[in-house]
Amino acid sequence: MPIEPQPDAQRKTTRRVSVLLPLPLERAFDYSVPADLDPRPGDVVVVPLNRREEVGVVWDCEPDSTVPDRKLKPISAILDTPPMGDTLRQFVDWVAAYTLSPPGDVMSMALRVVRQPTAPATGWRRVTPPPDGVRLTLARQRVLDVLARSEPRSTAELGRLADVGAAVIRGMGDAGLLSSEILPEPPPFAAPDPDIAGPTLSEAQEAAAATLRQAVADRRFAVTLLDGVTGSGKTEVYLEAVAECLRQGRQALILLPEIALSSQWLTRFQRRFGVAPAIWHSDLASRVRRVTWRAVAEGGAPVVVGARSALFLPFPDLGLVVVDEEHETAFKQEDGVVYHARDMAVVRARLCQAPAVLVSATPSLESVANVEAGRYGRVHLPVRHGGATMPRVEALDLRDAPPDRGRFLAPPLITAITETLARGEQAMLFLNRRGYAPLTLCRRCGHRMQCPNCTAWLVEHRARRELQCHHCGHAIPIPTECPACEAPNSLTPVGPGVERITEEAAALFPAARLLVMASDTMPGPHAAAEAARAIEAREVDLIIGTQIVAKGWHFPYLTLVGVVDADLGLAGGDLRASERTVQLLHQVAGRAGRADAPGRVLLQTFSPEHPVMQALVEGDLDAFMASEAAQRKPGNWPPYGRLAALIVSADTAQAADELARDLGRVAPYADGVMVLGPAPAPLSILRGRHRRRLLLKTRRDIAVQPLLRDWLAKVPVPRGGRVDVDVDPASFL
Ligand SMILES: [Zn+2]
Ligand SMILES: [Zn+2]
Repeated sequence: MPIEPQPDAQRKTTRRVSVLLPLPLERAFDYSVPADLDPRPGDVVVVPLNRREEVGVVWDCEPDSTVPDRKLKPISAILDTPPMGDTLRQFVDWVAAYTLSPPGDVMSMALRVVRQPTAPATGWRRVTPPPDGVRLTLARQRVLDVLARSEPRSTAELGRLADVGAAVIRGMGDAGLLSSEILPEPPPFAAPDPDIAGPTLSEAQEAAAATLRQAVADRRFAVTLLDGVTGSGKTEVYLEAVAECLRQGRQALILLPEIALSSQWLTRFQRRFGVAPAIWHSDLASRVRRVTWRAVAEGGAPVVVGARSALFLPFPDLGLVVVDEEHETAFKQEDGVVYHARDMAVVRARLCQAPAVLVSATPSLESVANVEAGRYGRVHLPVRHGGATMPRVEALDLRDAPPDRGRFLAPPLITAITETLARGEQAMLFLNRRGYAPLTLCRRCGHRMQCPNCTAWLVEHRARRELQCHHCGHAIPIPTECPACEAPNSLTPVGPGVERITEEAAALFPAARLLVMASDTMPGPHAAAEAARAIEAREVDLIIGTQIVAKGWHFPYLTLVGVVDADLGLAGGDLRASERTVQLLHQVAGRAGRADAPGRVLLQTFSPEHPVMQALVEGDLDAFMASEAAQRKPGNWPPYGRLAALIVSADTAQAADELARDLGRVAPYADGVMVLGPAPAPLSILRGRHRRRLLLKTRRDIAVQPLLRDWLAKVPVPRGGRVDVDVDPASFL
C-alpha cells in the first residue's frame, strides 16, 4: 500500500466510518479508524460489537456526527479479501429499499461466504460395500442417501443435508460405514473459448444472435425479451451473446430457475465453449463456494450460471445478465429477504451498465407489458429449430370419456400411450402433485387427516408409508385406524399424486419401463442427470413426473405427453392462476415431438371450453395474454398497477386479528390507492402461526414503498406478532 499523508489523521476529530453489519439493522454503525488503517468504502472489516467481533463492510453513508468520539469503538482489522465493489453496494441498497428489508440482511447475502469459518478440508465418503452386521437407523440411512448423490461432504454440511447431528456421522465413521479423507482444492475455472465453432444457426436464430451480440458490444443497459417457441433453440442464441461478452473480456451471469435440473444445459454450454462454467447455488460444498466466490471477485470466473443468489456475487466487470425461463416462479425468493430475482437481475444489469436478456417460450405478462410499453426490446423465434413442428394439442373431455372407477387415466389417453409405446417412442404423464394422494379420508366418519400445524391436508407418501404436510414437513406413519372414530382400516386415499399414477400405469403397461421424476424421488443434480441420460439412451418408455418434467429438457424420442389433471392449477383465487397454468402446461407440452417424429399432447380436463385449454389447443398464447391483459388493466392489477402484501402473523388467532385490524384501521387512503383486507390467509395457520393478509394496490405511477413505510410506522407490533412485507407478491397463500 502506498504511504501517503492522511489528512483526516491530522484533524482534531477522530476519523470515523460507517460499517454495515450483516444483521437485521436499519442502518450502518459508526466506528473510529485507528491511525494504522485506511479503510475505503467496500472494504471488509472486523469490528467489535457488544462483546464479540463481527465482520462488516465499510458503507457509503455519512457517519452520524452527533455521536461523540469517545463513544466510538475502533475498527479491529481490514480483511484480506476482495472489497465489495461500488455497483454491488448500490445493488444492496437498492434491493433493501425496494423490498423494505434491513440493508444489513440484504448485504449478508453478499457477504455470507466471507463470514464462513475456513472449514478444514476433510470430508466423508460412503464405504462400499458397507461392512456386514452394522445397524442402519433411519438417520444413518439419510446420511448414506445424501452421499450416494453427492461428492464427499464435511461433517457440518452432511449434518445439515441429512438432518442429523455430528455424533451420528462420527458414529458411522467408527462403525466403518463412512471414511474420512482430505478433500482436494477445487481446480481454478478454465477460460471458456468463445471462438469454438458453435452449432449451425438457422437464419432466424442468427438474426436474433446478432441483435443480442450488438447489445453486449454496446456496453450499455438495455433489456431484451428473447421469446421463442419451445424447441426453437433460444439457448444457442443467447450463448452467442455470452461469447461476445467473453470476447469483450467481461463477465456473464446466467440465472436458471433450477440449476439442479440443468445437466442438459451444462452439456450444451460445454460443447459451445469447451469448458464448464462456474456454478452457484445454495447446495454447493462450502469450499467450492469459497473458491468460486473468490474467483468471481478476482475475475477468474468469466461465466457464472446460478440460482437467484448468484445476483449477489462480487462481479468486478459484469457485461451481460441472462435470465432463462424468466416466467418461472422459482425466481421469487419467499423466505428472508423477499425479492424477485428476474426483476432484481434487471436492476443489477442497469447498475453495471450491462444488457439483460430475459428468455422464455411463455413470457410473463410483466415482460410482455414492458415490451409493449417500449421499455424492453423483443427478439422473437416463431418456429422450432431443424424443421421440427409444434406438437398437436387436444383437450380430452373427462365428462365424455371418464376413467374407470378409482382410476385417473381416461381410455383415449391409455390408447394413445399404447400406440406410442408400440411404435418404440416415449410417452410422458404429467401431474403436478407429489406423493400418492393429496387427501386421506375415513370412510366411516368422514374424518380428514389434517396437519396439526397448518391449514392443510396431509399428503400420503406410500413408498415411505407416511402422511406428510407439504408446508411444514410434519410427517406421521400412516395410521392403521381412524384417529377420530377408531375404525380399523377405514382410511382411504382420495385423488391422485404421481405415485398413484405410477401404480396405475404399471398395471396398464406391465412391459413398459417407467421412470418417476419428482423432487422427492429425484433429489439433487446427480439423480436428475442420470434420469436425463437414461431417457436419452432410450432405457425408459414412460416418464411420470411433476413440474420437474416441464423444465427445458430435450428428449428426441418423446412424442406423447398426457396431462393427468389440466384443471389443477386453476383452482383458488390467485391473480396469475390462468397465466401460470398456460405457462406450465405449454412448457410440458413443449417436451413432445422435438425431433423428427411429430408430437401429440392430451389434456385431461373437465372444462375444455376454459380459455386456458383453448389457448393451449390453438397454440395461440399471444391472444391469451392479450385477454389476460384486458382483464387486469381496468382494475390496475399487475403489471398495470402495483401490489404489495402485508402478512400478519401471531401465536393466537385473536392476536393476529387484532394486529391485522389495527393495520386496517390506519391503511393509506388516496386517489389510485386501495387496500384489500384484512382477511384470513388461505393458509390461515402455517407452522402453528395464525396468519392474516392485507393487500395494497396502487396505480403504476405510485410507488408502494413510501406508503408502506408510513403505514407500518403507525402500528406497533406487539410481542409474538410479526408483519412481513412482500412487494410484488407472486404467491397469495
Ligand atoms: Zn373415522
Ligand atoms: Zn404443516
